[in-house]
Amino acid sequence: MLARRFFSIKLETKILINNKWVDSLSGKTFPTINPATEEVIAHVQKGSAEDVDLAVNAARAAFDFGPWRRFTASQRAGCIRRLADLIEENKSELAYIETINNGKPISDSLNFDLPMTLDTYRYYAGYTDKVFGKTIPMSGPFFTYTKLEPVGVVGQIIPWNVPLIMQAWKLAPAMAAGCTVVLKPAEQTPLSALKVGELIIQAGFPPGVINIVPGFGDTGAALATHKKVDKIAFTGSTEVGLEIVKNAGVNGLRRVSLELGGKSPNIIFDDADLDLAISQAHIGVFLNQGQVCFSGSRVFVQAGIYDEFVSRSASLIKCRKLGDPLDPTTQHGSQISKVQLEKILYYIETGKSQGAKLIAGGKRLGLKGCFVEPTIFADVTDDMTIAKEEIFGPVMSILKFHTIDEVIQRANNTNYGLGAGVVTRDIEKAFKVTNALRAGTVFVNCYSVITEGAPFGGFKQSGNDKEMGTEGFMSYIEKKTVVIKTSEDTL
Ligand code: NAD
Repeated sequence: MLARRFFSIKLETKILINNKWVDSLSGKTFPTINPATEEVIAHVQKGSAEDVDLAVNAARAAFDFGPWRRFTASQRAGCIRRLADLIEENKSELAYIETINNGKPISDSLNFDLPMTLDTYRYYAGYTDKVFGKTIPMSGPFFTYTKLEPVGVVGQIIPWNVPLIMQAWKLAPAMAAGCTVVLKPAEQTPLSALKVGELIIQAGFPPGVINIVPGFGDTGAALATHKKVDKIAFTGSTEVGLEIVKNAGVNGLRRVSLELGGKSPNIIFDDADLDLAISQAHIGVFLNQGQVCFSGSRVFVQAGIYDEFVSRSASLIKCRKLGDPLDPTTQHGSQISKVQLEKILYYIETGKSQGAKLIAGGKRLGLKGCFVEPTIFADVTDDMTIAKEEIFGPVMSILKFHTIDEVIQRANNTNYGLGAGVVTRDIEKAFKVTNALRAGTVFVNCYSVITEGAPFGGFKQSGNDKEMGTEGFMSYIEKKTVVIKTSEDTL
């Protein structure tokens, strides 16, 4: 129904530089695919290092000489609010684009991705005039204060799992702070980012403030090492994050913010409300086809409820409706790509061969599209590959534990530290575990509940900064100290 309604929508497929849509200098394009049908949706201009150079120069000029630097806080907020209003006006079309390009259910695009995107832009629009410097007492005839300034030209690189949300988490605080941006969307999902680019022009952002260059890893690398970029903000895998850190010193120093992968523990105690625990763990793993960075994929269940938890989880998963992402009743859509599909199936085979007990799913669904059955393994042990590596797919590993101290140690025994969960009726236990877990966000008696007001980011190999909240805004700010000599008379 939706497919027919929007069959003729105009898709933007070019590079956005200086508020103009341009072709790549090389003339190269790449196909972008609907993973649910494996059909090509459109051919998108492929940005190269030369296109990145043009975009960075546009952002540099807009930052150094353009009107944007003289915009008042309320003028910046006005642009961001108009953008949010335009996104809202176009939300059905954006949700449709997100679904055909990513494979996620249309109900998720409309009820999760779009609202969070809008909330993020509106939240940061309110930030432009709410954060300021301070005056600092100093000996002698001096007046000293700090002034908050935008960090400058920012290169932003995002992944494909929640494209509109990732774009908003990057663009909104940078816009609010007064930075200029070159954004590179993921090669799998450029279309919604480019549609937002169209709305950015309509919202009244001056030329060069926001530039969007679609492309692959080499495009991202050209951006991350460009000498005129003051800060690089990256969300993606830990492997690529490490490469960005390695390259960060090429062509001079720049700031680097990293939001990376995870292998998050979700701990369920004997005293938990079992209905809540089962549904919480289910959402924790299967939301967005398991393609969530803080997915609670290691589910630790205490021995007393273990068997019941396992059998009821297997029953619940059978009710999850898989299928056409454009069907409004679908709960579980397609994985992002053939590559991701193969990777998930490899992990499932590894789980089986290493002795985990497959209790649900485990197969590709159909022959067309990148669909994987939601999969549950029980009797998983800490040394198994599926308990250690990020799968980024719909695979739950259930592990048995006996004591609180044991489970804390096992939950923390990972290089990652993004999310974690605990389900218990005992507040003391909840506090003990929450305090002991080395993770950026801990959910108690819930999972996957995030908000634009709360900082989000990882410990350890899951990242080095925060997005959202005040911290997300400050990530785009430089602090300048000003010392003014006054006369002795003023003391
Ligand atoms: P990825 O690291 O493969 O790619 C992410 C982005 O980096 C893409 O735009 C890609 O083109 C670009 N890129 C690839 N190589 C590059 C290079 N050498 N230099 C610069 N840029 C390069 O990750 P992905 O497969 O797109 O996304 C999945 C990963 O992202 C998972 O590990 C997931 O946990 C993580 N993620 C983290 C968060 C978070 O907030 N912590 C959120 C979403 C996803």
